[in-house]
Amino acid sequence: MSRSSSKGKVAQFFVDNLGKIVESREIQAAADGAVQYSRRLRELRADGWKIQSHADTTELKPGQYRLIEMPPEKKPVTFSSTISQKLRAEVLDRNGFTCQMCGVTPGDIDVVTGRKVRLHIGHIKDKSLGGKDELSNLRTLCSSCNQGAKNVTQEKPTTIWLLGQVRRAGQDEQRAVLEWLQKKFGS
Ligand SMILES: [Zn+2]
Repeated sequence: MSRSSSKGKVAQFFVDNLGKIVESREIQAAADGAVQYSRRLRELRADGWKIQSHADTTELKPGQYRLIEMPPEKKPVTFSSTISQKLRAEVLDRNGFTCQMCGVTPGDIDVVTGRKVRLHIGHIKDKSLGGKDELSNLRTLCSSCNQGAKNVTQEKPTTIWLLGQVRRAGQDEQRAVLEWLQKKFGS
């Protein structure tokens, strides 16, 4: 029994029982008796499936679960899990831990979501179009840009434009730029 098929069976079981309270033994049966069905549950939740347990609502007793809405569509851009940690680290390092479309970095607040920026590794040429999991085809993107939620051009700023912006900025902003550059280039 492979992991993906038992996860797929648990997923199908929840979809078939959308909105209904199901018991852990039923989930286990759906997973062909796999004892790790609770791990499959965690995986589905991590994928954004809204599966409630007794910890979420008093309507459920321990061992009872309920899928409250249809699961999310597949993510719009493939974050391939086939990209190794090493390659991820290389992409992040090369891209200066900065979203390559809008320029935010982790710790900034995303203007779209109001949450702290998280960076993803995205494909420049999508995998469905034959793009490969290699350094030259990967870049860091924030969640919003990755989902196309931000309307920014993909063109990088020119040196002249960028220097102009920095010269116009206030001293505090300039100092922040200086600190960021010093951190990046380790001076
Ligand atoms: Zn971005």
